[in-house]
Amino acid sequence: MDFRLNDEQLEFQRHCHRFAAEVMRPVAPYHDREQAVPWDVIREARKWDLHGLDLLQKMATDSHGLFSVIYAEELHWGCAGIALAIQASSLAAAGIAASGTPEQIGRWLPECYGIGDEIKLGAYAVTEPQAGSDVKSLRTTAKRDGDEWVLNGTKVFISNGGIADVTVVVATVDPDLGHRGQASFVVPKDTPGFRMGKKEDKLGIRASQTAEIVLEDCRVPMENLLGGLDKLERKLERARSGQSSGSSGALATFEVTRPFVGGSAIGIARAAYEWTLDWLEGREYEGEPLLDQQRVQQVIADVATEIEAARLLVWRAAWMGRNGIPMTGGQGSMSKLKAGDVTMWATTALMDLVGPEGALTDHPLEKFFRDAKIYQLFEGTAQVQRLVVSRMQVEERRRTLDEAAEVVADVAEKSRAAAAA
Ligand SMILES: Cc1cc2nc3c(=O)[nH]c(=O)nc-3n(C[C@H](O)[C@H](O)[C@H](O)COP(=O)(O)OP(=O)(O)OC[C@H]3O[C@@H](n4cnc5c(N)ncnc54)[C@H](O)[C@@H]3O)c2cc1C
Repeated sequence: MDFRLNDEQLEFQRHCHRFAAEVMRPVAPYHDREQAVPWDVIREARKWDLHGLDLLQKMATDSHGLFSVIYAEELHWGCAGIALAIQASSLAAAGIAASGTPEQIGRWLPECYGIGDEIKLGAYAVTEPQAGSDVKSLRTTAKRDGDEWVLNGTKVFISNGGIADVTVVVATVDPDLGHRGQASFVVPKDTPGFRMGKKEDKLGIRASQTAEIVLEDCRVPMENLLGGLDKLERKLERARSGQSSGSSGALATFEVTRPFVGGSAIGIARAAYEWTLDWLEGREYEGEPLLDQQRVQQVIADVATEIEAARLLVWRAAWMGRNGIPMTGGQGSMSKLKAGDVTMWATTALMDLVGPEGALTDHPLEKFFRDAKIYQLFEGTAQVQRLVVSRMQVEERRRTLDEAAEVVADVAEKSRAAAAA
């Protein structure tokens, strides 16, 4: 086991960090204040090879799986909202890659990013007013009409909602079957019946557009059904005959992205930690340097330790995912849960340390604090992550005990046979 980054990983980390420091940080306050989509930064990210299909290919070349989490951490260190605006297309891309045929992947992935100098964005629309954590209760319907599908419903809280060139919409084909009756459809932005609803005004990650999506008799051709009709019909048939207990495709997509979300959260925590260390440097309280005071040292040690612990969980999960090692203990969810909680806790502890000055918009700490909260709320809330981890842990324990019981029974059987002989 070697915990050091190799030369290629270190070089990529430095490249991402330079982009975050030189391109993102200077414009972060403006985009945060105005909630403006950072088109110029996304274009610049393409020039730096930090947005687009080439980047996806590069990430796939790292056999340790760390490029993606290094990228997430460094860009979120720069500005969480801008980072999400640059990265949100990857949710749509993951949805297409998870459910699409090879032809659909070749057709639609470039539409999520654009080719050459052209910038395109993707969005992944699952959440509805009554169905976020409870993904099986989606009400957006997809009805077949000849060679077309007709979509009706409202999606909420959609990152890149309304500005994406393509939106992957998860809808229900047979509501009685819960998540097993759902399918994913690619909807290009100029499709009649597809429009943006309310744009949300948020606490944090304000440079990332979050909006409602409204689908009113929105027709897409048969080929926009991800995976194709035969696959969907087989899935529905299995579900109706009670043969399938398979998990939701939407949940599987979110599961794949969880270490990446954890890495993003850590970027904010590290930014807040580093800023606070710089702020403390040279300051005194009652004639004694703040950095020499034990109450301050307690907080610094705890924040540093928690950030390192969360990063190790994130890197382990990213490595397991890249190497096809099943996360039967909920390691992906665990990494996101820990990183989100650490980030909210650390930004709070650091603000307590700095005091009221930390809450002023004169300093970036109040922005880090606002940006942190979302990492306990989206891509599976912290509470729901706990349910996932807990269920997987219990299942794993039961499997371990069953396997042990089988070994004991086997040994007993062999002993009996030997005695009889
Ligand atoms: C900025 C932002 C961007 C987003 N981007 C996207 C996107 O691009 N695409 C997309 O599809 N969605 C997106 N979402 C939606 C997000 O993933 C959901 O909001 C989230 O999954 C929570 O679902 P919900 O809103 O229905 O909350 P609810 O599920 O209603 O949760 C409300 C509260 O109840 C708790 N809770 C719910 N169920 C349980 C339970 N069984 N046990 C214990 N506690 C429970 C939750 O933890 C939470 O505290 C985004 C949300 C935000 C805020």
